[in-house]
Amino acid sequence: MYDYLVVGAGLFGSVFAYEASRRGKKCLVIDKRNHVAGNIYTKEVNGINVHEYGAHIFHTSNKEIWEYVNQFAEFNRYTNSPVARYKDELYNLPFNMNTFHALWGVKTPEEAKEYISRQIANTYKEEPANLEEQALNLVGKDIYEKLIKGYTEKQWGKQATELPSFIIKRLPVRFTYDNNYFNDKYQGIPEGGYTKMIEKMLEGIEVRLNTDYFSHKKEFDAMAHTVVYTGMIDQYYEYCYGALEYRSLRFETEQLPVENYQGNAVVNYTEYEVPYTRIIEHKHFEFNTSKETIITREYPKTWKLGDEPYYPINDEKNMNVFSKYQELAAKETNVIFGGRLANYQYFDMHNVIEKALNTVKEACSK
Ligand code: FAD
Ligand code: UDP
Repeated sequence: MYDYLVVGAGLFGSVFAYEASRRGKKCLVIDKRNHVAGNIYTKEVNGINVHEYGAHIFHTSNKEIWEYVNQFAEFNRYTNSPVARYKDELYNLPFNMNTFHALWGVKTPEEAKEYISRQIANTYKEEPANLEEQALNLVGKDIYEKLIKGYTEKQWGKQATELPSFIIKRLPVRFTYDNNYFNDKYQGIPEGGYTKMIEKMLEGIEVRLNTDYFSHKKEFDAMAHTVVYTGMIDQYYEYCYGALEYRSLRFETEQLPVENYQGNAVVNYTEYEVPYTRIIEHKHFEFNTSKETIITREYPKTWKLGDEPYYPINDEKNMNVFSKYQELAAKETNVIFGGRLANYQYFDMHNVIEKALNTVKEACSK
């Protein structure tokens, strides 16, 4: 008999299992995949750690969380500074003085602010009703048309006028020459990859891979006092209110006999006509100096049941369905729902760790 059956060896499940075990609880972790680490899984290929489910950069402003992850891995000094390519033009991201200078030739923050405010004045909406209006309010027509519209429409498979504005609220706009994509105090990539970090958390804990909870749910439930479920909440309830929708991705990975393909870990392709949104060159996450390289093109994809769920579509329709599942979940006494899929929400890694730590603390104090 286990205290906890943890469904999912992703970040949430692994932090939960580590902390519960530390508190003397007996855990069994299962995952339907053939590896641990969930979506932060990295696979070593010829000395390069490939981010198999999309590029992952750890960032946080929370010192406790930063110190927490540093127990399991040493983090390097990687700072995410993506480059955006629009046709043959290259721009720095996030939108900053380098971007404004390349676009308009402006040199000072004052010139840049003046330029943007002139552009905004033509289209300004007191209450932006969608992503297009929000972007025009924030940065004006030039940036919207070259760096936001095409990328966003292919990423989400919808017109920018049909998308909610919150999607781009987290893109910083800065009047300094600072290409750091994140505003957070701490940032880096675990040396040796995320998989090693998760393996360290799971050391000494029983883990069963290639094991789908739903294939033997009754038996699994009988094996533990409490189930910690980090899969899709709608699947848990057999889609009784319908399936929650996601946006999916397809990754196309190539090994190339060149040392340096694009000179940066992340290059975004912001025009609509290029079918992928970005190319990741994995070695640059770790300052790897090997003679060859591995790149991944990331293609957005319509999601259907059975596909890998990446980005939840948190529109009104889906959120209404989600709230019905939440009502069911609230009535459970022996099931804890955690992580991005059970909460139907995009979480950064630092959010997931914080939530897992709070959840395990509360659970183990009962
Ligand atoms: P997951 O990693 O999805 O783990 C859930 C696990 O449960 C999976 O391993 C799954 O196989 C397993 N499972 C599900 N159902 C079952 C079942 N029935 N039986 C057994 N096992 C099951 N965050 C950042 O902080 N920085 C980034 O740069 C970043 N980049 C991202 C890029 C992309 C493209 C995406 C989509 C997300 C990104 N994130 C990033 C977010 C990050 O991926 C998540 O915060 C993190 O993976 C969530 O961990 P989790 O444990 O909640 O979920
Ligand atoms: N975005 C954009 N142009 C870019 C990068 C991002 O318009 O070059 C928009 C796009 O709508 C995207 C959102 O900003 O969905 C959030 O992007 P971010 O890179 O933060 O998210 P990720 O896709 O990496 O999770």
